[in-house]
Amino acid sequence: MIVKDIIEAWLIANNPTESQRILAEFRGKICDDCSSKKMFLIPYCSECNCPIGKKIFTNNFNPCPLKKWEYIDKNYFNPTKEKKTLL
Ligand code: SF4
Repeated sequence: MIVKDIIEAWLIANNPTESQRILAEFRGKICDDCSSKKMFLIPYCSECNCPIGKKIFTNNFNPCPLKKWEYIDKNYFNPTKEKKTLL
């Protein structure tokens, strides 16, 4: 992820819309069952080293490095309605 995407994900995580919260919840459930989820103080993805609690709010389609979020994002990701931050 580029820096803009990371900052945007952190901002959304602090103040998500209801649909962003639902999308993040579904993404998080996939991460919970993924062997790439690791713990070092907080849960993080060992494929990209991102903190999962923030990455799940990313405003990009299926940014999971293993593309495991595709089904969820196809059904719940809608960036045109979800732009709420200034970035
Ligand atoms: S972002 Fe993808 S690869 Fe990383 S822990 Fe979640 S499901 Fe696994």
